[in-house]
Amino acid sequence: MQPRDLSAHAPYVPGRGTEEVARELGMDPEDLTKLSSNENPHGPSPKAVAAIEDAAPTVSVYPKTAHTDLTEALADKWGLDPTQVWLSPGADGSIDYLTRAMLEPGDDILEPSPGFSYYSMSARYHHGDAVQYDVSKADDFEQTAESVLDVYDGERMVYLTTPHNPSGSVLPRAELVELAESVDDHTLLVVDEAYGEFADEPSAIDLLSAYDNIAVLRTFSKAYGLAGLRVGYACVPEEWADAYARVNTPFAASELACRAALAALDDPDHVEKSVESAKWARQYLRDELDVPTWESAGNFVLADVGDATAVSDVAQREGVIVRDCGSFGLPECIRISCGTEAQTKHAVDVLNRIVSEVPTA
Ligand SMILES: *Cc1c(COP(=O)(O)O)cnc(C)c1O
Repeated sequence: MQPRDLSAHAPYVPGRGTEEVARELGMDPEDLTKLSSNENPHGPSPKAVAAIEDAAPTVSVYPKTAHTDLTEALADKWGLDPTQVWLSPGADGSIDYLTRAMLEPGDDILEPSPGFSYYSMSARYHHGDAVQYDVSKADDFEQTAESVLDVYDGERMVYLTTPHNPSGSVLPRAELVELAESVDDHTLLVVDEAYGEFADEPSAIDLLSAYDNIAVLRTFSKAYGLAGLRVGYACVPEEWADAYARVNTPFAASELACRAALAALDDPDHVEKSVESAKWARQYLRDELDVPTWESAGNFVLADVGDATAVSDVAQREGVIVRDCGSFGLPECIRISCGTEAQTKHAVDVLNRIVSEVPTA
């Protein structure tokens, strides 16, 4: 017995985890500074933790009310109809739901390169394929409608990541509007705002009332500090919002995830503090790292260290885990997540020492 031919399906490469690295190096996880997965260094809101504890005894029941409550709270937050909010296990789950709803076998998606690998993985699971447009390092990862339209050839879905992972660049609203007005009628623009809270630009969600070819992804994994619970959502235009009922996995987000997300929405101070802290850290990383970096609107900074594998391996042995961007197609770059003030300063000390010792080209 064998599964179908999966040779075209590359496995997702996550940032390295603390436990994993600690075991490998025989270190105490407490001694490691994990800045590899853009998680919230301040953890979840205490209100979310309390909600999880409160809900624990109820997990024998399917999450029907919690699902409805969270959907309504999000619809309220964004001024949408509840049908327009597609809850999912992480924003990754929303990528799957949109792919299920859009792709026929053999259809293509268009995605940024470098970029988030799950877009093409999801397309391939759903018997489609992926083509890339450049978000080019030579142009400081500037995002424009032109660079998308240069290669656009009627693909069914076009992914736009803003702030962009791994560079932190943004797609200005005027460029998005130009795209929405330029692509063919059958093309859906998927605006991935996984890091939207950290940016100064407003969300593209308000464009849903004017355009029926834009969907926006948001998540509780980053600014809200709930990555371990897996809860995110897509906001979609009213015209085709009812597709959710036909494509979602029943009870898409768990009871604990929904309850925690509701509590987290009720604690804007925690999000604000997390965003302020990330803004401080990304500026500190840019000011203090002795290597080229790029302006970031996310909770991370991309840095050109010459040999990302060499630098990240040495950093890891010294207890600082950063993301080697080789898997993004940037073997000379590392991505450093914004930590607490102490973590960020420590990471800069360690990385500056390493880049002064490791040959950088
Ligand atoms: C983290 C991330 C996501 C989604 O993560 P989930 O944990 O599945 O919500 C989506 N897109 C990008 C670009 C990301 O970095």
